Amino acid sequence: MLTETEARQRILSAIPPGPVQELGLLAALGRFAAREVIASVPIPGFDNSMMDGYALHAADSVGLRKLSVSAEQPAGMNLELHCEPGHAIRIFTGAPMPAGADAVIMQEDVDREDGMILCREPVQVGENVRRVGADLCVGQIMLRRGEALTAGRLGLLASQGCATANVHATPRTTVLSTGDELVPAGHGPLQSGQIYNSNGVMLQGLLAQLGIHETQAVHCRDDLQATVSLLHDLIQTQDIIILSGGVSVGDHDQIKPALLQLGIPPDLWRVKVKPGKPFLFAKTSRASDGRPVFIFGLPGNPASSFVAYQLFVRPALLRWMGAGDVSMPVVPVRVSTSLDNDGGRPHYLRGLVQDGIFRPQGLQQSHALFALSQANALLRLAEGQSLAAGDPAEALLF
Ligand code: AMP
Ligand code: MG
Repeated sequence: MLTETEARQRILSAIPPGPVQELGLLAALGRFAAREVIASVPIPGFDNSMMDGYALHAADSVGLRKLSVSAEQPAGMNLELHCEPGHAIRIFTGAPMPAGADAVIMQEDVDREDGMILCREPVQVGENVRRVGADLCVGQIMLRRGEALTAGRLGLLASQGCATANVHATPRTTVLSTGDELVPAGHGPLQSGQIYNSNGVMLQGLLAQLGIHETQAVHCRDDLQATVSLLHDLIQTQDIIILSGGVSVGDHDQIKPALLQLGIPPDLWRVKVKPGKPFLFAKTSRASDGRPVFIFGLPGNPASSFVAYQLFVRPALLRWMGAGDVSMPVVPVRVSTSLDNDGGRPHYLRGLVQDGIFRPQGLQQSHALFALSQANALLRLAEGQSLAAGDPAEALLF
């Protein structure tokens, strides 16, 4: 059986980044840059005042001299003023510095009377002046390929006058839940033996967290021909198909047989990990346009589905979306209690990280959805690994 690292490597090496599109800045939020962007405008764009106050020659601010206020420069149009020695120019935050002036004194530090100011505090050369290019120079790389378009980076692009960004597309994705026992939430009371479909919306939620919002959720019974026909149809339109349930070896698990009937042998099936062992990955290409279609089979048990998604599907989706970093955020923690893994597979415990402490939540079993809902992190315990309360470890945040 493959290890998690081998499985992830194999999946990532099969997935090229998806197509590139040019989007308006806000629409690009959360997407990943497809091109490097070089600054064409310095930040700040010109020397300007950091404060409301008076532009002056710093040397004039010592010795309680009185300076005459000769003009006013508000933010906006540069009035091309000149500040002579012994004079000051009233200035406001963001307004261009008058030629000659080398500092700004805050208005709180002067006494003003009859068109004159008295400086109560001396200022240094350059004080309260924002210099052109101090934050970002022309020619500097301001956005690298694969970096996420955060709100801060949208602002940065706008500050350069860019109204659009080149980013990778999001994949057309369907979540296909399988199982005769499943009933959609909201569809009346359950008959004996039935359960509500919880994986469907959970997986759509995980996709939305990555910025993949327009997903469809479909259901299929545990019937080979129905599964074959639905998969065949989805392959015609989707880039990614995420299946839940039906990937084990039970008589009613139809995913593998259906893929084989469609001539799609899985690239990998079963990974040495707990939970999530029956995970399956397959790829094919669409006859109509030759585009690749990737198929992920997640176990039906909710916690298994969730963990296998985090370990294998999330990085794959991020790669498709052109992300440079597809790993989960790691934080150092201490464990709240002793933890043991005496099983033969690495165990990903679900827990809550708060104030640097990892606390496992509730039942650590593959169906335990409430326990999972209380968690914000995974902690990997290798085969045979034991931790004592207070031991250091690393948690993977989700
Ligand atoms: P399977 O992987 O199909 O053998 O399913 C394993 C377990 O997960 C069974 O107890 C199923 O009833 C349950 N299960 C399968 N699909 C879902 C789903 N969409 N939502 C909640 N539980 C599910
Ligand atoms: Mg099933």
